[in-house]
Amino acid sequence: MAEDMKPHVAFLPSSGMGHIFPLFQLAKQLALHHGFRISFIVITTEASASQNHFQSSAALLPGLSIIDLPPADVSCIITDDMRLVTRLSVIVRESLKPVKSILLDLKPTSLIIDIFTTDAIDVCIELLIPVYSFFTASTVCLTFSLYLPTLDCEVEGEFVDLPAPVEIPGCQPLRTEDLIDQVKDRKNDEYKWFLFHVSRLPYTSGIFLNAWEDLDPERLTALNENPFFKSITTPPVFPVAPLIKDGEILTVKDAEILAWLDAQPCGSVLYVSLGSGGTLSSEQLIELAWGLEMSRQRFILVVCRPTDLSAYATFFNVGTNENDPSAYLPERFLERNRGVGLVAPTWAPQSAVLAHPSTGAFLSHCGWNSTLESLVHGKPMIAWPLYAEQRMNATMLVEEVRVAVKLGREEVIGREEIERVVRAVMEGEQGNAVRLRARELKESAQRASESSVGRVLDTWKSKN
Ligand code: UDP
Repeated sequence: MAEDMKPHVAFLPSSGMGHIFPLFQLAKQLALHHGFRISFIVITTEASASQNHFQSSAALLPGLSIIDLPPADVSCIITDDMRLVTRLSVIVRESLKPVKSILLDLKPTSLIIDIFTTDAIDVCIELLIPVYSFFTASTVCLTFSLYLPTLDCEVEGEFVDLPAPVEIPGCQPLRTEDLIDQVKDRKNDEYKWFLFHVSRLPYTSGIFLNAWEDLDPERLTALNENPFFKSITTPPVFPVAPLIKDGEILTVKDAEILAWLDAQPCGSVLYVSLGSGGTLSSEQLIELAWGLEMSRQRFILVVCRPTDLSAYATFFNVGTNENDPSAYLPERFLERNRGVGLVAPTWAPQSAVLAHPSTGAFLSHCGWNSTLESLVHGKPMIAWPLYAEQRMNATMLVEEVRVAVKLGREEVIGREEIERVVRAVMEGEQGNAVRLRARELKESAQRASESSVGRVLDTWKSKN
């Protein structure tokens, strides 16, 4: 088909690889397998190694053009005390100023945004461009997000002070301690921004969701059928999972990590990573390192420089800082663990590591992309949620899906607890149970990717 005859879809993710990657996977599927022309609009933030890496590999795909928004000068607006969603929303709002003229120029048949680029909805309404949202977090997070405007009207004080779990129609109740960080202080601007974005979901023509039926049947049914979700005019929800990263271009360092894995016995390595933004305090990182060493299991530890500032300190500057692990890991840790453990400063080719047969389990912050990557590759998890919606994901994975084991909830998780859980998952009875469950989910993820993704995309394509 001639390029200008193809349906043309534009994508607009907010910054952060956890948003860019899944939208890009969907874009790739549409371009490579469903005959779409794609414009992928990228918000340029401070130079980040992962984003640069993504840009150079994405530039090579046929049918897909990358459009960089000019970097917005936010230096006078951003303040040090701004929390994650406020900061992200401010950057996005400033960056989107030229988006109307870009869309006028591109004339796409529809636009796909994510949860933090909802400012583009107004432009799309004005230009009569149908707008869809790709909700990149879990189903549990989506049901809560759609319920939040109702909860906001019904509850006066803080949600964390509620005497009982939050009852979302058609879904398992949510414990208040598992609520998203962004709603734990309603007076903070971050709450207002979050509420603003989720309140706009009903203005979209549909919501793509990185989930599949077997993973969360109850909530998916509730979203499409429960009278409450109908009453708040929830648009149709399309489960398109599992969309995970593939075909990454590997750097020399990435290849070294995979070569190390090649030399390890099958299922013997614990992969430890807390996502693109997760950061531990110095004290916690020392405990983690000792816990791994004491467990006497093989491991790959992806580490960012520790900080006592916040759990997501690296979110906006992945890979830009000097990162020498010997400066903050326990003394002689690297020497003592040589051969048994591999330390990867800042970044590892996660999807390839999880796909590798030597990897036995994943100690994860339970970010949704990491979770899906683990499940698609049939790896059980140790849940170490840090911020955002990660606690509700962790609870769901441990208590409902039963594919993960949770660490303690102490402020600083001690080395003995880490040692105990790592051993339990890598070699104990508990490990057998979660491994079995992970294998079942791998098969169901495979079935889903063969059927539901294509079906959803075809249905959607017929409307474009
Ligand atoms: N990632 C990676 N290497 C790393 C850390 C993260 O490739 O060392 C990728 C990971 O595979 C996933 C994404 O970054 O696709 C992280 O997304 P997620 O939703 O899990 O968490 P976030 O980083 O947004 O908290």
